[in-house]
Amino acid sequence: MTNKKLIVITGASSGFGMAMAEMFSKSGYPLLLLARRVEKMEALGLSNTLCRKVDVTDRETFEAAVREAEGIYGKTELLVNNAGVMLLGDLTIQNSQEWQKMLDINVMGVMHGMQIVMNDMKARKSGTIINVSSIAGVQPFGNHAAYCASKFGVVGLTRVARNEMSPFNVRVLSILPGAVETELIEHTTDPNIVNGYKEWKENVGAVNITAEDVAKTILFTFELPQAVSLREIVITDTKQDA
Ligand code: NDP
Repeated sequence: MTNKKLIVITGASSGFGMAMAEMFSKSGYPLLLLARRVEKMEALGLSNTLCRKVDVTDRETFEAAVREAEGIYGKTELLVNNAGVMLLGDLTIQNSQEWQKMLDINVMGVMHGMQIVMNDMKARKSGTIINVSSIAGVQPFGNHAAYCASKFGVVGLTRVARNEMSPFNVRVLSILPGAVETELIEHTTDPNIVNGYKEWKENVGAVNITAEDVAKTILFTFELPQAVSLREIVITDTKQDA
């Protein structure tokens, strides 16, 4: 059993979340990994790790998993609200169910996670929450209207929570990555938009930053002293032009 404290990562079955799971585990942290595809997280075979099938829009199962892990490893020291979807679309024709899905997962999921751990962190006067927003949380991109709405939302709610939690010595931070190769774009339903996105990345050469680079940055940010709050991190491929 490790003496390090519990790290909870949502969306750990792929992309940034999976890279974080592997990196935090290598650094000796006990983990709670959450996503719907539980088998992908279990296949990592990480020690001191609990994997639970959780949809972050369902607060009850989300909270039950966190309490179960805390029963084994102690209170949550870091929650990374990373689970998210990107369904790009033309605002004039996109199905509103896609907007709803993004707002539910990307915003409500983050708020659920925060509410589940915040009171304990406040009481303990310790803890860190890192919300994964996006560079699309501070600037516009074509066909990103609803995604931008969700990610601007994450930046806004994180800033408010940071103000509210700072008197309690709890860090509330956001990271805003640019385009990084993961499964994220694959859920967009319009093939022309998917191809356009991929072509843009290739054309500008913004293809070298990896999920591991993002995970490494999150680990570094967390391991800074509790007194140091790296409030908002914008991280992109050097060649990303927007
Ligand atoms: P991936 O698609 O590779 O990973 C997304 C993860 O979120 C998966 O593990 C998925 O697991 C999980 N997830 C999706 N919906 C839910 C849900 N309802 N409940 C629980 N888990 C869910 O994408 P990335 O790793 O790229 O994305 C991670 C985060 O980073 C997202 O918030 C994304 O918006 C953000 N981001 C990504 C960028 C990029 O270019 N890659 C740029 C900027 C931000 P499962 O399907 O098994 O539930």
